[in-house]
Amino acid sequence: MNVDQHGMKGDTMKNLISVTAKAGGTATNASGTTTPTALAVEHRMDDSTDLYLPKGEGVFADTVRSDRPASFTLQNGLQVVVIPDHRTPVVTQMIWYKVGSADEPPGKSGLAHFLEHLMFKGTSKHPANEFSKAVLRAGGNQNAFTGLDYTSYFQHVPREHLGKMMEFEADRMTGLILKDEDVLSERDVVLEEFNMSVANNPRERLAEQMMAALYLNHPYGRPIIGWRHEIEKLTREDALTFYKRIHAPNNAILIVAGDVAPKKIRSVVTETFGAIPTQASIPLERLRP
Ligand SMILES: [Zn+2]
Repeated sequence: MNVDQHGMKGDTMKNLISVTAKAGGTATNASGTTTPTALAVEHRMDDSTDLYLPKGEGVFADTVRSDRPASFTLQNGLQVVVIPDHRTPVVTQMIWYKVGSADEPPGKSGLAHFLEHLMFKGTSKHPANEFSKAVLRAGGNQNAFTGLDYTSYFQHVPREHLGKMMEFEADRMTGLILKDEDVLSERDVVLEEFNMSVANNPRERLAEQMMAALYLNHPYGRPIIGWRHEIEKLTREDALTFYKRIHAPNNAILIVAGDVAPKKIRSVVTETFGAIPTQASIPLERLRP
């Protein structure tokens, strides 16, 4: 309820859960029963490398061989967390912006989620879908989601593609280009998402009304996807103004998790995100009524 997924609603958490489960050699389905995955078979064939520890419960303890998590802050304010995990040669880059639906201006409900969709429209350096295509070409996956207090984007790719992913993500922190035709068609996509996930979903309708009643005079009472009549009126200017207000290194946390070394990550992050200027208008503390 609190998280609205870009594209396939709910898939992000399912993916994360299944990735974890696969490492153990099983995947848990919706009914709670477990089934062996193809990857698990592969682990057994690869036993000699001792890479995936396919033998029973020990597999989840393998992270002890990884370095400890590290964190640092760039001079421009970007907070970085590195979580090494050397079990598989893959890496997840995830950026969390400290902005969610509760930060929207009055009358513009749904704007944070709408902007999340628009962040895939491209920049002058990497126009239309180039980022998404690069993720797919690398054999990776990506998604984004919006909550009451955050908006997050991630890519899950083979480790050798991390530098490129970082360059794309840094580029769209400030380089987003929005054309009217893209914005209006994407607004229709969001309205359709509203139809599917809320209007035709009794549980979500109830949740929407409950939150509105519980948070009578607080931004948490607004639905993350927005009130339909307000979504319908969101414009390119609304999205761009909001984008410029909140997208800055000193309003974000970058997480890199996977087969990486913290020291090397520091230099790559500095090269890619380090040149983006701090935005002085972003308050040190988040304000809530
Ligand atoms: Zn969405």
